[in-house]
Amino acid sequence: MFRHTRLKLTAWYLLIIMIVSLIFSTVIYIDVNRELTRFERFQTLRQDRMQSDFGTVIGDPISAAVDSELISEARGRLITSLVLLNVCILAGSSVAGYFLAGRTLTPIKTMLDDQARFIGDASHELKTPLTSLRSEIEVYLRSRKQTKKEADAILTSNLEEVIRLTQLTDSFMQLASYEKRNAQNIPMSTINLRDFMENTIKKVQPFAQKKKISIKSSVDAIAFMADESSLSQLFVILLDNAIKYSKNGKKIKITSELGEQLIVHVRDEGIGMDSASQKHIFDRFYRADKSRTSNSASGYGLGLSIAKAIAELHGGNITVKSVIGKGSQFSVILPV
Ligand code: ADP
Repeated sequence: MFRHTRLKLTAWYLLIIMIVSLIFSTVIYIDVNRELTRFERFQTLRQDRMQSDFGTVIGDPISAAVDSELISEARGRLITSLVLLNVCILAGSSVAGYFLAGRTLTPIKTMLDDQARFIGDASHELKTPLTSLRSEIEVYLRSRKQTKKEADAILTSNLEEVIRLTQLTDSFMQLASYEKRNAQNIPMSTINLRDFMENTIKKVQPFAQKKKISIKSSVDAIAFMADESSLSQLFVILLDNAIKYSKNGKKIKITSELGEQLIVHVRDEGIGMDSASQKHIFDRFYRADKSRTSNSASGYGLGLSIAKAIAELHGGNITVKSVIGKGSQFSVILPV
């Protein structure tokens, strides 16, 4: 399909270039031809005048014939040159047009490939809980001899799957909404980094307490403009991951740096990740080394994609540094 569209686009480029080239060639031909005709007429007039001035044939008839021969030869040469020029333009613009069409279509192709990959991954993620739900319900309907306890267990498991499905669809919607929005249509307000971080930490505190993980923020009281609700979601995702991928009793530290930009670091003492994973963790549905990170709390690999989309919406970015077994540091860079 990409090749077909590329050829079609090349044909359109060619058509436009050839129309312009043919118009120019016609204008040049008409102009030069007019000059040649004028010159021819002038030569004939000069011959006639000389003939009438001196009564006899003084003008050289051979030279007059040569003149008109030269003129028609020049006319022929002009036509040949114009045809040659157009053939060269046709050949040159076919190659250039094909190349340019490829360059024009590449970002569209990348976007379509991304979209197709997203749909494939999303369908795969949806299929697993749906299959599990379906088989549990089918088994239940086939043998209705279950006790109330067994039925409750099935319903509880179904509910868990439904909750996970809801979380997944919520994540899809959030990702789509952040990627669709731009900085102009987010409600920006002045935020004090210290107060903001305290409020954000409160949201993940119960989860941290369960694992006896301490979260210490020593950020400065910097005032900056941001959309408080989405930025809070970004830090909840980072803190949530820091807790999720740390063993019980570890520490999480949050610090800030103010230069040309505001940088907020979230550092944990968790399992860390290798450099290959670090390159992909912001990709949708990416989960680093499943054997190390798979636990009941691990998600769908959409959290960091959402976090990155939020940072980009603010004109910023997120980077990561990590060492296996030592921990990870996520740095949120925001313009001030
Ligand atoms: P998930 O919902 O699976 O946590 P994320 O997009 O938030 O999805 O994270 C993607 C992957 O990056 C995770 O599956 C995990 O492997 C890795 N990861 C994220 N944060 C950390 C961290 N603080 N420490 C170690 N690995 C992490």
